[in-house]
Amino acid sequence: ETVIGLEVHVELATRTKIFCGCSTAFGGAPNTHTCPVCTGMPGSLPVLNKQVVEYAAAVGLATNCTITQYCKFDRKNYFYPDNPQNYQISQLYLPICYDGAVEIETSAGKKTVRIHEMHMEEDAGKLIHDEWEDCSLVDCNRSGVPLIEIVSEPDMRSADEVIAYLEKLRCTMQYLGVSDCKLQEGSMRADVNLSVRVAGSDTLGTRTEMKNLNSFKAIAHAIEGERERQIELLEMGKVSSRRPEDGMTIKSLLMRCVLRRMQRITAISRIRIFRRSIFLMSGSQKIRSEMPEFREEKAARYQSEFGLPE
Ligand code: ADP
Ligand code: MG
Ligand code: ZN
Repeated sequence: ETVIGLEVHVELATRTKIFCGCSTAFGGAPNTHTCPVCTGMPGSLPVLNKQVVEYAAAVGLATNCTITQYCKFDRKNYFYPDNPQNYQISQLYLPICYDGAVEIETSAGKKTVRIHEMHMEEDAGKLIHDEWEDCSLVDCNRSGVPLIEIVSEPDMRSADEVIAYLEKLRCTMQYLGVSDCKLQEGSMRADVNLSVRVAGSDTLGTRTEMKNLNSFKAIAHAIEGERERQIELLEMGKVSSRRPEDGMTIKSLLMRCVLRRMQRITAISRIRIFRRSIFLMSGSQKIRSEMPEFREEKAARYQSEFGLPE
């Protein structure tokens, strides 16, 4: 049996970045949408974009999550050239939403996928590896673009279910107007965690993680390949390692991710970026009252109101 859990990153369609007033527009000339805050200059201070919180809460409500009344940000330290601050501002201890669930539709019928948590964080910059000039260039336009990360429970069992789940999330976010969810432009990206186990077993196998897959095709392909690889290992009596062997076509566990993981396990220095905690209660009522009619509701209403067939 294949067991899959997803971490989905979605860029939010705010006009400005999460902690500064720079534009989030895609495709500007390199380093033109930048300022001291989003390039991590010493002494600059982040100021939270309220729209990010409202969008994140809206996605949380639409996916049946509990919204945390007091939430805060944490500093995730890691060094990488696309991250001039040397840390990412994210939410580790008190994410904005948790314990949600969405219903997906597959050829085998309806199924619930549980959402473990959802948190807000900032995107990193982009590295362009210029082979002609034999150098790597840094573009900070994307650094500080708001992201939400949606972490599912390991509830999916096949590539079909994964695609249905992603389509459900994409549809929900497009209806809410919080993201365009373009996989090709990277405004929606999925990390696929996969393990296999003997059918009927209720303990989880050892997972591998495939990062930043950016098309449904690539995701389905990666799942098939990794599933077969792990089954083969299991049948040979080996435990699959978290890192696929060299020469694998699937790009998994980049060095950066390994570093990030170490940082999570070792001491995490925290940064409190605003004095007042965010109090969402009244805000979430407002957000709830502004929820659109989603696809399933619309379909049901069209059928009963206008007698349209499914
Ligand atoms: P990390 O950042 O270390 O990858 P997260 O908690 O952010 O950890 O993500 C873990 C993801 O992996 C979740 O989506 C979870 O459902 C999934 N997962 C955890 N254990 C397994 C497993 N044994 N098999 C498949 N997926 C798993
Ligand atoms: Mg992960
Ligand atoms: Zn900026």
